[in-house]
Order: sequence, then C-alpha cells, then structure tokens
Amino acid sequence: MKLLTPDLFVESVFHLNLEQLKKRNIKGLIIDIDNTLVAWDIKYASEETKQWLLSLQKEGFQVCLVSNNTEDRVVKFNEALNLQAIHRAVKPRRGAFKRAMEMMKTNVNNTAVIGDQIFTDVLGGNRMGLYTILVIPIESKEFWWTEFVRKIEKHVLKAVVPERQGD
Ligand SMILES: [Mg+2]
Repeated sequence: MKLLTPDLFVESVFHLNLEQLKKRNIKGLIIDIDNTLVAWDIKYASEETKQWLLSLQKEGFQVCLVSNNTEDRVVKFNEALNLQAIHRAVKPRRGAFKRAMEMMKTNVNNTAVIGDQIFTDVLGGNRMGLYTILVIPIESKEFWWTEFVRKIEKHVLKAVVPERQGD
C-alpha cells in the first residue's frame, strides 16, 4: 500500500508550491504528460502550462518529461517546449526514471515525480525512492465538469419545456 501512496497530492500542477519543493531539496522534476500537463487527446500545451514549465526552469529546476506514450506524441508535444523527454517509458518500470535522472544529473534524493496515475507515476516513483506527487487527471476533471453542466442543462430544460408546452 505504501508503494501506491503519493508523498503529496495536489489538484493540478499549478497548485504545486515550488518553494516547498526547494525546501525539500528537490532539484529535478520528472513530469508525466497525458492528463497531468494536458488532456490525452490534446496535442500541445496550453499557454498557461507553457508558462508554468518555463517558470520551473527559471526557478532552477531540471525538468524531464517522462511519458508512456509514443515517440510521435511526445516529440510533437515537446516541439514548442524543448524539454528533455523520454517516450515509451514503460512506467512503473524503473528504467526511464533512471535515465531521466541521468539526463537531469540528479539522484533519488533530489528528484520528484509528478503524474496523474497511481499505478504508473506514483508506483514507479516510490519504487525508485523518489518524492512522488499525484495530481487529479485533467481528463476526468473535464469529464466531471461536462457531466455537471449536462445535469444543470437537463434541470433547466425540464423547468423550461413544460412551460412552453403550457403556452
Ligand atoms: Mg498520465
């Protein structure tokens, strides 16, 4: 169970406290792409996400994108970002985490993993002894929001339609 428990849980990457990470001596960030930085079916990062990734580098963090997705997906997503990146990472296996730390010149004591999935990002990071940060998947957030809006729409329609019929 411990291997499936993140060290930190935040709503989204934007809710991360960078100062707190610095206090923990975190220097390298391994970041998942799909549903962590962007919905799985969106090709590019939003302006807000781009700025956030840029701010990480400005704050002195090393960043490496580590995704289980294909080379095509990762290269395209990274086109405008130019970050270090690993595709087909096979998380939760340890290989890609090790490679990412080599690329960032960090180690297990000063590297964190940020991702939306317990069985890939958190499990993999915990197995390596890294600091693990879980975020709520972007897709499901959109899903819940859509569901919520649809429910409201239904209520509104129910309220409006009988009146019209009564006209
Ligand atoms: Mg993901």
